[in-house]
Order: sequence, then C-alpha cells, then structure tokens
Amino acid sequence: MHPFSYTRVSDTRAALDAGRRGGRYIAGGTTLVDLMRETVERPRALVDISALPLREVTVTRRGGLRIGALVRMAEAAAHPRVRALYPVISQALELSASAQLRNMATIGGNIMQRTRCSYFRDVTAACNKREPGTGCAALHGVNRTHAILGTSDDCVATHPSDVAVAFAALEATVHLLGPAGERTVPFADFLLEPGSTPSREQALRPGELITAVEIPALPRPLKSGYLKVRDRQSYEFALTSAAVALHIRGGVIREAKVAAGGVGTVPWKLPAVEGRLIGQRPSDALWTTAAERAADGARPLPHNRFKVELLRRTVERQLRVIGGGK
Ligand code: SF4
Repeated sequence: MHPFSYTRVSDTRAALDAGRRGGRYIAGGTTLVDLMRETVERPRALVDISALPLREVTVTRRGGLRIGALVRMAEAAAHPRVRALYPVISQALELSASAQLRNMATIGGNIMQRTRCSYFRDVTAACNKREPGTGCAALHGVNRTHAILGTSDDCVATHPSDVAVAFAALEATVHLLGPAGERTVPFADFLLEPGSTPSREQALRPGELITAVEIPALPRPLKSGYLKVRDRQSYEFALTSAAVALHIRGGVIREAKVAAGGVGTVPWKLPAVEGRLIGQRPSDALWTTAAERAADGARPLPHNRFKVELLRRTVERQLRVIGGGK
C-alpha cells in the first residue's frame, strides 16, 4: 500500500475544502481500501466523510423517496418506507455482497464502486480503465462475465452494483454538492459508458460529493422486484439481473420501469421493453414478446454469448413474477 494521509471531517464545508485540495472521499471503505491494498488505487489523501449528516431516508413532498448517501446498504434495505414503496430497492440490496459488507457499505459508495473485471484489479495486466492507453486485456482474454451492452473497443467491463439497476429502472436522480453549490443529475446521466475514456466513470466534477439519491413518486399501486442470476446463490455478482416496476390499473399496464444488470457497462435501462408493455394487458405472451427486445444492440464477446439469451429469459421471468399473467 502506498503512503497516504487521513482526515476525518464532520461537516460538509470541511469535506468540500479537503475535496477541493484533491482529497479522495471515503465512507464505508469496502471498495476503496481493497483497491488501495492491491495498489490499483493510490490516493494521496483520504477524507473520511462517514460522520456527515447524510444518513436519513425521507419521503419527499411528492411521495418519492430520498436516501441519504451515507445510509448503509443494510439500513436502506430494512427501512420500512423503502420496503413499502420500492421493494425492488430492498431486494437489490439484500441480494448484494455479504451481510458484513452491507452493514458497512453506503448507498453513495455502492453506486461509485468500481468494476470487478479481474484485469482491472491485476496491476500487471493491460487495462485502459486503470492505466489509460495501455489496452484492454479482457477483449482477447477471459471475458465470460463482461458486458454485452454499452461496450467500446477500449473497455467491456460491467458495472457491478445491483441497487444501481433499481435506481436506473426507477429513473432516480443523484443529488450532488460541490464547490460551485448543489446540483442534481438524472441517474441515467450519472454513470458513464466507457467510450474512449473508460477511466472516467461518473459525471462528477472535481471535489463533488454525492449527498442523496432520490426516487421519484410513481403512480400507485406499484409492484416491483429484482431478480439476480449468478453462478452461486450468495456473495456473487450478477451474470444478468432485472429490476421491474409495473403500475397496472383496470387490467392495463399504465407504467413500466425496467432495467438490466450484469450485462451493461452501466446499469442498462430497457425502453424498448417498457414500450412494448405500456397500454397492454398482462399475459404470458406479452412478457415473452416484450423480453425479446431486452438484448437489442448487444455485442457479445467470445465467452459471453450466453448472456444474450439469459438476459431475455431473466427479464421475461421477472416480468411474469411482477405482472402475473396467464
Ligand atoms: Fe480494463 Fe475495462 Fe478492459 Fe477490464 S474491460 S481490462 S476494466 S479496460
């Protein structure tokens, strides 16, 4: 591990001052400390923000939900309002990582976590994300778990978060605070596809801090849930996943929010699937027809062609679980 300084701050002004001087924010530390041990990340200054007052879950005036950036994954998953309003968030969190990690890791840190591409974590391998311009060992290496959507010639790594898939489906907003003040960014614009600059992963400006994630109010009744398909049933990242929320009234689907995980370089919203659902009556045939669009635009790699069909089936199954049908 490389030498670094450590400062613990208790108010946002001190945090922003330290951030402006190049300090790297840390809270639960469940990703960053690992990466520092492996010398993948070498920050010179850590700014511990875990004491900042960003640990509340509140219902917004419009009936949405605001989850503070420092709410622990386990706290968010168990929160009665989260469970009641958006089960898809609770389920995505509970299917993530391990109990120990969920007790430490925060919501803000979760969406900021870096890829689990093994070449990214191997400092002897070529990796444009870790060392821009060095190449991508995964393109011609072992790429079974890599992305099939949103990839570029420079990087094919998946985004590892589960709850980010739920946030993408629900069209959340990220609240930020920086030297220039507060601003909000739609979740769809917050995490960046790799393009030719895979080392740039979020639309954060220098020194900016995530303060909260806000889920908009959606029409009720709303049924939602998260399905995760993985090689083993515990402590494993998704091969594919599906976050689905449906508002069905009068026997017709009025709203559909669908996103996929484990397949994209960012959580992958599925507007073509949503478009096939809205205005239709739930049925097995509808789930099948809609899910056919889930892999539109996929560019599989030599070892992960199976993800195309697995994604379609994952989405179809979760649509059926949430929407019922016959
Ligand atoms: Fe690095 Fe991305 Fe290639 Fe993995 S897929 S080796 S993270 S550039």
